[in-house]
Amino acid sequence: THFGYQEVPFEEKASRVADVFHSVAARYDVMNDLMSLGIHRYWKRLTIERAAVRKGHQVLDIAGGTGDLALPFAQRVGTEGRVVLADINESMLRVGREKLLDQGVGGNVEYVQANAECLPFPDNHFHCITIAFGLRNVTDKDAALRSMARVLRPGGRLLILEFSKPLHQILSRVYDEYSFKVLPRIGEWVAGDADSYRYLAESIRMHPDQETLKSMMESAGLERVDYTNLTGGIVALHRGIKL
Ligand code: SAM
Repeated sequence: THFGYQEVPFEEKASRVADVFHSVAARYDVMNDLMSLGIHRYWKRLTIERAAVRKGHQVLDIAGGTGDLALPFAQRVGTEGRVVLADINESMLRVGREKLLDQGVGGNVEYVQANAECLPFPDNHFHCITIAFGLRNVTDKDAALRSMARVLRPGGRLLILEFSKPLHQILSRVYDEYSFKVLPRIGEWVAGDADSYRYLAESIRMHPDQETLKSMMESAGLERVDYTNLTGGIVALHRGIKL
């Protein structure tokens, strides 16, 4: 690429992603606040609102990491409901589990190590599935979307919060500078790990844009798919329903 970073070969992607998240797990939350200047909290709050999770619901947060979405969902579904916090990476799951336990949340949450591409859950099960900043790390995104559609129950909704394509060129340039120059440096200072954050910047740039992701969701069988641009399209929140 013109920034001089090596692209990760396709077959290496999965193990590269694993290394990155083992490496950042312990510092993940503080890095998120630092690197997004706290804005990720607002993006997640909107996702939680749109999820419209209610008492008794079955909710899956896949690639749920340290549990930023699972925590409020667990408070909403009550004792009759259940939240599954699933992630492919056990270091991230462990940090998430500790955080939820610290907050006094536990009885209605299950922690599952799972790959989004082949979810180990029954068909037509969940009222709501969320994946926040996770899909771009998945190797076979179409397989992941089909798998999510399969375990969603009819009438259930899928919400995808992910980096997307900035709407304006100036914003796009500033953002590129920020993610390729500033982010790896913050990663170096705070986590002693610039490479992981370089990978993250690269994975953001390669991710499908708003309309592409929308049609991928439709191909996976989701309906009434729409999206909302957040922070000038740096992030988009996609939503689809299984009918
Ligand atoms: N959802 C959390 C959040 O918004 O703070 C964590 C997002 S973190 C940037 C991405 C997460 O995706 C990591 O915890 C990583 O382990 C997980 N992940 C990567 N590939 C995955 C896959 N194929 N299946 C499930 N989780 C995956």
